Amino acid sequence: MRKLIVAGNWKMNTSVAEGVELAKKVSDYVASKNLPAQKQVVIAPPFTHLAPIAQVINADKVILAAQDCAATTNGAYTGEVSASMLKGLGVKAVILGHSERRQYFKENSEILLKKIKLALAEGLDIIFCIGETKEQREAGANLYNNVIKAQLVDTVFTLTPEEFKKVIIAYEPVWAIGTGLTATPEQAQDIHAMIRKAIADNFGQAVADDTTILYGGSCKPSNAAEIFAKKDVDGGLIGGASLKADDFAKLIDAR
Ligand code: PEP
Repeated sequence: MRKLIVAGNWKMNTSVAEGVELAKKVSDYVASKNLPAQKQVVIAPPFTHLAPIAQVINADKVILAAQDCAATTNGAYTGEVSASMLKGLGVKAVILGHSERRQYFKENSEILLKKIKLALAEGLDIIFCIGETKEQREAGANLYNNVIKAQLVDTVFTLTPEEFKKVIIAYEPVWAIGTGLTATPEQAQDIHAMIRKAIADNFGQAVADDTTILYGGSCKPSNAAEIFAKKDVDGGLIGGASLKADDFAKLIDAR
């Protein structure tokens, strides 16, 4: 079943105490709303916050996600956190392929596919981010559509249809992340439709119809409802606005 999801990517923000308070507010808000089963709320706090947050949220109401996982299972990899360690904390999903990881940590499709496989082996859902840079957007639709398709073809399109069911796609134009620039609802719809068609071409129409495709990039209470209303937009991956409980609540209500 295609889900409607509002997910918060906190990035490297908040102290543990602030994060626990924020998570509790989100959990209480969602609990007060009695959302339909199709609608889900996800939060992705920093690694250090996951264990205490798992203790305070209602796991039936809010899905706990991590922002990354290691490309290896265990061993001498200083600083890394494995998918199985995350699972042990009550984490249910992991964000992979975020443009900040691609840009600052040089994560390419080969590394990402390893992470995807390890996360899937632990039963985690994947929120897989794709999107074009400003330069690629300016080079025209032919180029940016191919860039986005290649990000899929080299990674999640190599999975089996059964594995792919655990994948949520987040279309995040890099030029819109944290910049205050947002894709217009029409721009978002065009790309989401193109992504869904690419999924249909690879896995068949039924799988494509069931795939959740989120929009991310400077989503806020003032612009979310219009973007989320588009036919192929199934919710949002939210950065900055997920750090304020009130704004995040409005975004939850916008979908
Ligand atoms: C993100 O980084 O996933 C994101 C969408 O950030 P922002 O909402 O701050 O643009």
